[in-house]
Amino acid sequence: MPESTRMPRPSTLWSLLVLGLVTSLALSYGAYQLAGYSWNQVVDYRSPFVDIDPDTTRVDNPGADRRTVLIIIDGLTDEASRSMSVMNTLRARGADVALTVPQPSLSFPTWTTILSGAPQQISGVTTNWYERRVEVETLLDVAIAEGRSTMVAGPTDLDMLYGASDADASAFTDWVSDSYMSAGIVDDALRLDAELGGASLVIVHFPDIDEAGHAFGASAPEYTEMVARVNDDLDRLVTGLDDGETVFCITPDHGHIATGGHGGWEDPVIHTSCVIAGPGVAHVTTQADLEDIAPTVAVLGGLSTPGHARGIAIASLLEEPDSPAIQADLKRAGLFAKDYAAIVDPSSGTIGTPMSAIDVRVLYAAADNARLDADRSGRLAAFVGVLGLLLAFGMVAALRSWRALVSATVGTVAYFVVYNGLFFLVHGYKWSLSAFNEESMVQTFFNMRMVEAVIAGLVACLVAGVVYPLLRKEPKPPHHPYLPGWLSLGVMTTLLIQAVLVLQVAIFWRMWGAAVVWRLPEMSAGFKYDLDLIQLTALGAVAVLGTGVTYLVGRFHPKTRRVTS
Ligand SMILES: [Zn+2]
Repeated sequence: MPESTRMPRPSTLWSLLVLGLVTSLALSYGAYQLAGYSWNQVVDYRSPFVDIDPDTTRVDNPGADRRTVLIIIDGLTDEASRSMSVMNTLRARGADVALTVPQPSLSFPTWTTILSGAPQQISGVTTNWYERRVEVETLLDVAIAEGRSTMVAGPTDLDMLYGASDADASAFTDWVSDSYMSAGIVDDALRLDAELGGASLVIVHFPDIDEAGHAFGASAPEYTEMVARVNDDLDRLVTGLDDGETVFCITPDHGHIATGGHGGWEDPVIHTSCVIAGPGVAHVTTQADLEDIAPTVAVLGGLSTPGHARGIAIASLLEEPDSPAIQADLKRAGLFAKDYAAIVDPSSGTIGTPMSAIDVRVLYAAADNARLDADRSGRLAAFVGVLGLLLAFGMVAALRSWRALVSATVGTVAYFVVYNGLFFLVHGYKWSLSAFNEESMVQTFFNMRMVEAVIAGLVACLVAGVVYPLLRKEPKPPHHPYLPGWLSLGVMTTLLIQAVLVLQVAIFWRMWGAAVVWRLPEMSAGFKYDLDLIQLTALGAVAVLGTGVTYLVGRFHPKTRRVTS
C-alpha cells in the first residue's frame, strides 16, 4: 500500500482535499437545482392530454335524463363513512362501491377526478397549488352544454377550478378554518334547488370533515364528532332533495391517515368508499377507481361522459349493465383511449379502437409500457456513465488510502442509520406526501430534513475519525504533515455518502426521468428522490464542517501519538 511505504507530498494531499471539497459542493449545488426543477415539474406539469378535443370523443348518451345529485365529502375515510346513518341507509338500497383514489391524493386533483373522470396525469391538476380553471371537461360543463338545469353549492374553490358560477344557481362559501360550513352549504343547496324547481344536476361539497382530519387526525374523537355532525346535515340534504326519482352519488375525494393528512398512498387515504343509489342502480357491493365516478354519474343521469374521462362507467352497479347508455360510454372510452395511446406511444397508431372495458385497459397499459420502455432505454447510457463515475471514485479512494476508505464506509453506514432512524423511527414518517398535513408545512418539512442530514453527516465524520486510528499501528495526530490527510477524511466520508445518494437518484432518474411530460413518477419513489436530493444538498455543508470534526477527533483520539521529530 502506497501510504504505508511513503507519505505523499503534502501539496498533493492539499490538492486532493480542495478537489474533494469542490466536488462535494458542486454535487450539493447541482442537487439543489435538480430538487427545485423536479418539484416544479410535478407542480407545474402540463398534461398533453388536455389538448384532446372533447368533441372528437363525444358519444351522446341515448338514455333518459334523470335528476342526479353528486355530493363530495372531503376527507371521509371508509371507516367513518360506515358510521354515517345516511350512507348506510343509501347502501341498504343502492351500491356500496370500494374506491381507489389516484395520487397525489390531494383535494384539487381528486375533486377534479370526481367531476371529470380524469386522474392527475390527464387533468394536469397535480397539487392544490393549481389555482385556475381546469382544462378538462367536467360533468358540470356537459350538463350546461346539454341544456340541463344545474346547481352547485360548496367552497369558493369550486368556482375557481370549475367555473361553477356558470351553473343556473350556485352558492359559494369561503373556506374558513375553525368554522362549521356544511350547515350553511346545505341551507344554500336546499334553497337554490327549490328556487329552480329541482335542478337536473346538483353538485354539493362538504368541507368540514377534511378540516377535522387535518386538525385532529382521523382517529381522534373530534373527527368522529365532526362526521356525526356532517351526517345530520347530509341527512337534511338527501331528505330535502329526494323526490323518489333522484340518483344520489355520495363520494369522498380521499381519506385521512390516523394522525391527519393525505396526499400519499396510505391505505385509509387511497382506499375509501362511495354510495350510489336511486333509479337504475342495483343493490350491489362492487369496486372501482375514483375516475369511474364521473362516467357512472353521466350514464345514470342521461348525460354524455365528460370528454377527458379515462374512467369507465361502473356497469356492475347498474340494473341494466348492457344498456345503450353503457354502450355509448364504452364507445367514448375506446375513442379516448386511442387518442391517449397516440400521444403516449406514437407507434400505436395502427391499433383499432378498443370495444370493451378490458380492451380499453389493455390499450392504456400497452401504451404506457411501450413509452416507459422507450424512455428508460434512452436513459440507459447516461445511467451506466454515472455508475462508471461512482466506481472510479471508489477505486481512486481505495488506492489513495484503503484505511481512509474503510473508515469513511463505516461513517457512511452511521449516516444512513442516523438519518433514517430519525426519519422512520423518531418521526414515524414514510415516503409519502401525507407527511405534511398542510401545504404550508412543506418548506419546514424539507428544511428539517436538511438539518437532520447535516447532523447525520457530522456523526458520520465523527465515526470515520474514530475508526481510522484503530486501523493504524502508530496513528499520528493532525499536525504537519498529517494535517491535510485528517481534514480529507471528513471530505471523503461526505463524498462517499453523497455517492450512495447519487446512486439512488440515478436509479430513480433511470426509471422515471426528471422531466414530467406525459405521466407522474410513482409517488413514493418520487418522494424518496426529492429527499435524496435534499440530503445531497445539505451534505455540501457537511463537507466543510466535517473537516473540523475529523481534525478534532484526530487531535483528541486516545490512539494518536505526538509526532516526534
Ligand atoms: Zn385535506
